[in-house]
Amino acid sequence: MNRRVLVVDDSEVTRAILARTLRGAGFEVVEARDGAEGAMAALREQPAVVVTDLEMPIMDGFPLLRLLKADPASAHMPVLILTSHGEAASRYWSLRTGADAYLTKDHRPGELVETVKRLVRQAGSRPAPPQALGLDPQSIGPVEVLARVARHLDASLLQATVLNTLLEKGMAAADFHEAARGALETLGQIVDAQFLAVAMAELDAGMVQIFLNDPVRQADVDVLSDLLAKTVSQAPDTPVEVRIGGERGSVAVDLERAVWLPLPVRDGTGVLTFLPRDPHEFAASSTDELIEALLSHMALVLDNARLSQRLHELSTLDGLTRQLNHRVIYDRLTEELERARRYKYPLSVVLCDFDHFKEINDTYGHLAGDAVLREGAAVLRKHLRTTDLLGRYGGEEFLAVLPQVELGSARQAAERLRLGLESTPVRLPDGGKIHITASFGVADRDEVSGGTGSDLLVSLADRRLYEAKADGRNRVRP
Ligand code: GH3
Ligand code: MG
Ligand code: MG
Repeated sequence: MNRRVLVVDDSEVTRAILARTLRGAGFEVVEARDGAEGAMAALREQPAVVVTDLEMPIMDGFPLLRLLKADPASAHMPVLILTSHGEAASRYWSLRTGADAYLTKDHRPGELVETVKRLVRQAGSRPAPPQALGLDPQSIGPVEVLARVARHLDASLLQATVLNTLLEKGMAAADFHEAARGALETLGQIVDAQFLAVAMAELDAGMVQIFLNDPVRQADVDVLSDLLAKTVSQAPDTPVEVRIGGERGSVAVDLERAVWLPLPVRDGTGVLTFLPRDPHEFAASSTDELIEALLSHMALVLDNARLSQRLHELSTLDGLTRQLNHRVIYDRLTEELERARRYKYPLSVVLCDFDHFKEINDTYGHLAGDAVLREGAAVLRKHLRTTDLLGRYGGEEFLAVLPQVELGSARQAAERLRLGLESTPVRLPDGGKIHITASFGVADRDEVSGGTGSDLLVSLADRRLYEAKADGRNRVRP
């Protein structure tokens, strides 16, 4: 068994004491006076264990530790930090950087020998370093050591910088797509790719975010988004929201060449894919530590964004229809009315109530009623503009807020909603289909004296809705 111990310390006295103690316990001792000498000795002599001080000239203990732990030729050697520093931060950083043990110089008698013995045993049980490291022990001089340190420090600085940017952007994101855009942008800075994309699916929802660096043609983008959705979806009919950044154009891409990497997201399935511009560039580094760290951090960021998104939805959306809940649509109406008054633009509301809804429940059951509400709400949303707001106002009543819209146009909008509902058959859970209708009351803020009260405006719309019901339903009033 290898019983060689390398002692690295700038104090001759300390080295002499340590060497005597360790030799007395049956170890063979090699000495070095600072971190750089220590690194050379470690690579040349291949000791079983390295014992090093922290504060030393030329190169101190931390870079030595980093170098030994990062370099494949020495990563297996246990390192014991032996220092006069007792501070928590120095202990923390040593252990974080890969130290196997940490002792202060005022340790109790016998503790050093015990620890070194334990580490030697540990070293014996670790797999030996690969033979073909291309390492010629005699070629390891100070320049080689410094070059190695610079390389490792640079790599870890790059890693820290990239991960930091990723986390900074990602943790501020409100939803999956924002987090994914930030992550792809960061990744795009270190991987030269024609496109980058990330997809994630949970039980009931799938999300795809693509970023095109090259103007890829539409047909290839479609194939890519289908592929992404299929890869992550847990059921074939999961709705998937696809968002694409960057310009589309006429560039054909070879999707077969794309790199696919699983993203370890917590509550679902995730995947990252990109197409390296240079086919050889990525192959060499596909098991890269940086890529691995990127994947786990990306997953963390996406999980976090989904959590914030879900929390936000939980407090603002109606659970059944996924439209704004009563409180939020009412608050938004109040805000919009205030804005409309200040900037002197029109605003209208449309109140909608499904016709004979009780009969649907009575005939097909409450679950079918729920399905009709869900689909009916989706039809309403689909026929509104993105700037219009829609909320579930009551059981089967919905309120739409239409900023910048006067009564005449609001009536046309309501008519569009009415026609949309009437002409869209609604699927029932048992597979059957039914047609539903609704009645609508429209009101313009201009018609209400004072012009700001949300209550007054909704009451007017409600009176008109009542008229629409009284006049035979499936109509818009006024
Ligand atoms: P009208 O045409 O006059 O509006 O008739 P209606 O039957 O739609 O009106 P009514 O207000 O008498 O009944 C509304 C029904 O909507 C009663 C209630 O059980 C049902 N409803 C309210 N909320 C829900 C829900 O979340 N799910 C289901 N399935 N039904 C609901
Ligand atoms: Mg009704
Ligand atoms: Mg009602």
